[in-house]
Amino acid sequence: MALKLVMFGPPGAGKGTQASQLGQSRQIPQISTGDILREAVNRGTALGCQAKIVMDKGKLVSDELIVGIVRERLARSDVEHGFILDGFPRTVAQAVALDESLTDEDPLIVIELSVPDQVLVQRLSCRRVCGQCGATYGASGGEVPTVCSSCAADLVVRDDDREEVVLERLRVYREQTQPLVAFYGDRFSFVNIDGNQPPDAVQVSMSIAIDDVLSVAGDRVAHGDRNDRVQVTS
Ligand code: AMP
Repeated sequence: MALKLVMFGPPGAGKGTQASQLGQSRQIPQISTGDILREAVNRGTALGCQAKIVMDKGKLVSDELIVGIVRERLARSDVEHGFILDGFPRTVAQAVALDESLTDEDPLIVIELSVPDQVLVQRLSCRRVCGQCGATYGASGGEVPTVCSSCAADLVVRDDDREEVVLERLRVYREQTQPLVAFYGDRFSFVNIDGNQPPDAVQVSMSIAIDDVLSVAGDRVAHGDRNDRVQVTS
């Protein structure tokens, strides 16, 4: 059974860190729509120029544009054994489009990472990214890092991590992305994970929850019972 996973959660919840670690351990690609857009911005493509204006304001790029990007990405052969979508879907319209484009019977595992607002604001104020390779760093031992440990370039504050933009991103999250909880909430493959734990503990919780969902999915296939809406709790 292929591992098809989507992760959503507010900015600063740790989606990127967790998705990257999970992608490496399960050997499936991590597809971050934010990374794809930032790469387009850095390359100065037409898409990048269009996206930058929206991203710098803390808003979401259009459903049409992002759904097109994800559809194209999911058509590549490296997703054959699964994928982790990090930061997509972010609206109910995107979730509907994703359901429509998944034609096989592997369960879509949906992880919501929850973290209190005050922790998010604190994390984002310390977040730095490498201006060269794009690696992301958080504060460690109370120290905000300044140099990239993999390529030694200077670390910078992401344009959309400025305080006024962060507040807008949190507002947009509540308004446009939080409704995904109601959209996915009664699926057996929906899991809420407490993201306010040390990163390794979050990874362990996610891994246990994923294996639980896969095991329930396997049982359902064995019993020919695909419509059972059992909730798996983390
Ligand atoms: P992220 O790195 O996931 O925090 O995304 C950074 C920014 O990219 C977001 O604030 C949005 O402006 C844009 N973005 C990323 N993913 C999506 C998406 N699925 N839908 C709309 N906009 C997105």
